[in-house]
Amino acid sequence: MHRFSRRQLLALGGAAVSQFALGGMRCHAASPWIDHQSYGPFQCHASFPLGNLEPLFQELSALELELQRTLAVPPAAQTIDVFLLEDKRRHQELLRQLFPQVPYRRALYVQRGGRGSVYAYRHREVAVDLRHECTHALLHTNLSVVPLWLDEGLAEYFEMPAADRAFDHPHLQRLRLNLRFGLIPELEALESLEDLSDMGGAEYRYSWAWVHFMLHGPLPVHRALVHYLADIRRGNPPGKLSTRLHQTTPRLKHQLVIHFKKWRR
Ligand SMILES: [Zn+2]
Repeated sequence: MHRFSRRQLLALGGAAVSQFALGGMRCHAASPWIDHQSYGPFQCHASFPLGNLEPLFQELSALELELQRTLAVPPAAQTIDVFLLEDKRRHQELLRQLFPQVPYRRALYVQRGGRGSVYAYRHREVAVDLRHECTHALLHTNLSVVPLWLDEGLAEYFEMPAADRAFDHPHLQRLRLNLRFGLIPELEALESLEDLSDMGGAEYRYSWAWVHFMLHGPLPVHRALVHYLADIRRGNPPGKLSTRLHQTTPRLKHQLVIHFKKWRR
């Protein structure tokens, strides 16, 4: 349930992707999309009546405001297409036709020609999938580059419903166990990851942990994140976020450990 790397996207090729996705001329099958709705920056196309999913899409629209509030990023610079299939089989079929070279994922975000699209299907966890992928999509409308670990850490953080983000992510319990055994990696180790295939469950969890620390930890740490994203947006060479964080906060990893030790409702 994740984004493609830029390299993978470039390899996709073929201008027919978005045409096919929207039922364009080159598609030999009839368009599967029967319901089209706009929610904030999201243009939703579903193969079933969206009816009872409306609250979820309204929540997605609120996600844009939440990113503005917490990360000081501007509103989405372009609209984002969200394609929602009614079941896994149809979703697999569509992705196989659109992206035959790419391993199947339950949900994914792709960006082509500056426009983002999210592909998912209706199932019990679809809300988590959509919040995760739409976080990637919103970030990438304004930021040309987001380091892999940070992109995933933010998407993991915002994939929970708003009320559960700070205290109730399933990562928290597991992370506390990791902390007990001193397993938290230096930020530099996450920064060295370049490909999604380098990211396993632990890497997602640790990326989430550093994001949680930056959003809920000491103010200078949060400020460093906000300034880092602002520099990316303005086209200033951002360097490494770890360098900035070490400058603002001595004994950085120790501070992260303290943050989670004290983290209570
Ligand atoms: Zn992701």
